[in-house]
Amino acid sequence: KKLGLAMVGLGKYSTGQLIPAIIQSESFSLKGIVTGSEDKAQEYSTKYDIPEKNIYNYENFDLIKDNPDIDIVYIALPNSMHEEYVIRAALAGKHVITEKPMATSVKQCERMINACKNANVELFVGYRLHFEPHHLEAMKLGQTKAKGKLKKIIGSFGFKIEDNGQWRLKKDLAGGGSLVDVGIYVIQAARYVVGQNPIAVKNVKIENKIFDRPSEVDGDVTWEMEFPDGVIAFCSSSYTKESDKLFIEAEKGWIEISPAYYYYGLKGATEQGTLKMKRINQQKAQMEGIADTIINGIHNRASGIDGLIDIQIIEAIYKSAKTGERVTLEKRQENIHA
Ligand code: NAD
Repeated sequence: KKLGLAMVGLGKYSTGQLIPAIIQSESFSLKGIVTGSEDKAQEYSTKYDIPEKNIYNYENFDLIKDNPDIDIVYIALPNSMHEEYVIRAALAGKHVITEKPMATSVKQCERMINACKNANVELFVGYRLHFEPHHLEAMKLGQTKAKGKLKKIIGSFGFKIEDNGQWRLKKDLAGGGSLVDVGIYVIQAARYVVGQNPIAVKNVKIENKIFDRPSEVDGDVTWEMEFPDGVIAFCSSSYTKESDKLFIEAEKGWIEISPAYYYYGLKGATEQGTLKMKRINQQKAQMEGIADTIINGIHNRASGIDGLIDIQIIEAIYKSAKTGERVTLEKRQENIHA
């Protein structure tokens, strides 16, 4: 039997990428929707054959606890809303997946992790690249030291954001700008390539400027992360220019992925030439990985603690930008990706 999933939030990512992947998935079926819009409730329940009793809004969402059709809830709402809906899903006794960034503060992440622990449900963060072949290859190179010790990592992810009044440009809903939205992929990549967490962040530069005028959230960010064995990751994120790259240099070779973080079209190369990897649907692969954890007890590769550590690093980057100083990171958990 497939696991029944309810999607919370029917925005761009949810309807454009996640739902189509869930429909194709071998392990999940879309059984419920949670939306604040009557029109979307109509449209998507018809399109995906969802019965009236499995349609919820943000007010009556908690009633989902009595619905045996739903095993897991997927939260695809603006960042600052993740905490509330993850906790409500946990209290309803459902497993829960939240989109990235997990939340807008470490405190929120801790409350989310505790709620899921107390309810004995599994918590996942929607990090789709943990299941992507180019990234798995990069992890292998870094973690097995197949080409010798790592020397450095360079990563950047940026795009030109549209000025349409969207929540991403509002501090209270987004929690931050390009760093929390796309820079987080670079943080993740460096962490899973090294297989350890950084010990400090430094040399941070932040421009709070988008469309050539001051913005509530960061537009361009550059930062460095220091890992325990001396490896440095040189990172950047942007809402003003395009970039999409991950480069890893080891003693005896290198790997470059570019584009590296988009949904498709990833290309890889090493010192030996083109890296030929299988094309996959990233969101579908992510869902099969999640099912493996729920059904077969396989290690959760993108858990709450993993999401929390990224937010911890993000908070340190913002702090370092303010003080101009290197900020050390309190150790939370080692080798979480290994
Ligand atoms: P979106 O604006 O397209 O969708 C947001 C949804 O939330 C909409 O359905 C909107 O109606 C609903 N909503 C409820 N309350 C809202 C409020 N107060 N303000 C604004 N919208 C509200 O956004 P999106 O691009 O789909 O992003 C949703 C989440 O998914 C974010 O956390 C984002 O970081 C994440 N995301 C992840 C990926 C990925 O590759 N993993 C890609 C895109 C987005």
